[in-house]
This record gives sequence, C-alpha cells and structure tokens, in this order.
Amino acid sequence: MTDTASQSPFGGLVTNRLAGRVATVTGGASGIGLATVRRLAHEGATVVIADVCDEDQGDRLAEEVGGLFLRTDVTDESQVIELFATTQERLGAVDVAFNNVGISPPDDASILETGLDAWRRVQEVNLTSVFHCCKQVIPYMQAQGRGSIINTASFVAVMGAATSQISYSASKGGVLSMSRELGVEFARQGIRVNALCPGPVNTPLLQELFAKDPERAARRLVHAPMGRFAEPEEIAAAVAFLASDDASFITASEFLVDGGIAGAYVTPM
Ligand code: NAD
Repeated sequence: MTDTASQSPFGGLVTNRLAGRVATVTGGASGIGLATVRRLAHEGATVVIADVCDEDQGDRLAEEVGGLFLRTDVTDESQVIELFATTQERLGAVDVAFNNVGISPPDDASILETGLDAWRRVQEVNLTSVFHCCKQVIPYMQAQGRGSIINTASFVAVMGAATSQISYSASKGGVLSMSRELGVEFARQGIRVNALCPGPVNTPLLQELFAKDPERAARRLVHAPMGRFAEPEEIAAAVAFLASDDASFITASEFLVDGGIAGAYVTPM
C-alpha cells in the first residue's frame, strides 16, 4: 500500500487520475454532491461547487478542497450560463460536469395527492436544471474535444415504487433518457454523457426522515439485498470513475449504483 492509499479518507487506493482536470459539481454543498466534491479534489481535480447554500458555507468548502464556490441556482438559465463562463474564464477548462441537484419534497407523493405546483417545482429543479447545465456546458466541451458529463438520475428511473413520489420519479426518468440521447449525439466529439442511478443513500435528509419513522425505513430496507443504504462516498467513487479516463468507453449508460436493488426479486433474510 502506498502512503496515499493508507492516508486516504476513502478507505482504499485512490489515484491521481483527475490531475489537471476542472470539474463542476451542482448541489455540491451537501450529501452526494459534497462527497463527490471531496473525492474529485482528492483525485487531483480543481472543483467548482455550484449550490444555493449560503456564501460562507460555500466558500469554506471551496477552501477545504482548494476549489471555487460559485453561488448558482441551477433552475435559472442565466446563472447556469454564468457558472460555466466563469469556470472557463478562471480555470481555463470544463472537463467534467456533475449535474447533481435534485429535491424530493413531501408534497410530491401519490399522483392522487400531488398538486400541479409540486409537480412543476420538482420538474424544474430535477429535470430542467439538467437541461440547462448540459445545454450550456456542451459547447465548452466541443471546443476542447473532450468532456465527461454525469447527470444524477436515480434507481426509481428504472423501477416503480408503491411509495410514490410521482414527479420525482418522472423527472429522473427524464434525466435518464436525456442523458442517453446526449451520450449518443455527442459520442464522436469526445464527450461522454452518463446517467448515474443511485439507490437510496444515507444522507442527512434520509436519516432524519427515517429516524422519525422507523417503519418507513423498514418498508424500504427489506428490498435492499445488502440490507443497508449507500454511503455518499460510495456514490462519489462511481462519479470519480465515470469522470475519469478509466471510463473512456462508457457513455449513454444507465449507471446503477444501487447495491443490487434493481436486480432483486427475493432478498436475503
Ligand atoms: P441533498 O439534499 O443532500 O443536497 C442537494 C444540494 O442541492 C443541497 O446542497 C442544496 O442546497 C442544493 N440545491 C437545491 N436546489 C438547488 C438549486 N435550485 N440550485 C443549486 N443548488 C440547489 O441531496 P442528495 O441526497 O445528496 O441528492 C443529490 C442527488 O442525488 C439528487 O439529484 C437526488 O435526487 C439524487 N438521489 C439521491 C438519493 C438519496 O437517497 N439521497 C437517491 C437517488 C438519487
């Protein structure tokens, strides 16, 4: 084991495979995004954190990883244009775009209870934001002749849940098919586009929800072959892989990181 490996906060051998690369991470101040910011930086990338969190928090995180915080609301096209223009101007490239913002508010539930308001809000944040980010970053990647885009979908893009969040699931289906199409359209221009499909992840939001309602957690855990949810760092590891040249032949994929949930019928006792 090398020194880098033994000192790695990620538990295993982490290489420098993103050295010299510039990566943007939307929703980088929390959960999967935050773990990914740290992982990409650890692998040598200069990371731009784009989030609506407060400036102090964003600046602190940027300082921690030696990157940049650009306060960005990804539902606002002009702010997304600004995000990539500033990244290009200040760091000279945009090699990796992790388009990861997503929300799952409680008023998005069964179709019978979900209002148009909640439907539209979730579509705007989860799907339209990915449209803005891809549309605005691709021209920079075309000019460079390379790039890796990773859009966060979800395992619910490929399987149904009786515990419905109808707009969320539909939005993630949209992210999945948009990513597939972009991956195909730009494949000969050195741009790879993949949809990351995480299973349930142990984020603060989920912990809080399930601590209040253990039955709700049990209802889901029974379907997880590994009997647990993912840690954000396990999802970040997949993003780092997709971002790197190790994934040079992977594009337009439905990249499941779900602990086997989507492949399971009967799970172990
Ligand atoms: P999180 O709530 O921990 O973090 C989301 C971040 O996005 C926050 O920092 C928030 O400030 C930011 N954000 C929200 N709206 C924004 C906006 N309009 N513009 C810019 N930033 C904004 O989320 P998470 O659980 O880490 O989820 C990240 C992604 O992974 C989401 O797309 C989510 O749907 C997806 N996902 C999560 C899980 C899970 O179990 N947590 C499972 C599958 C997929």
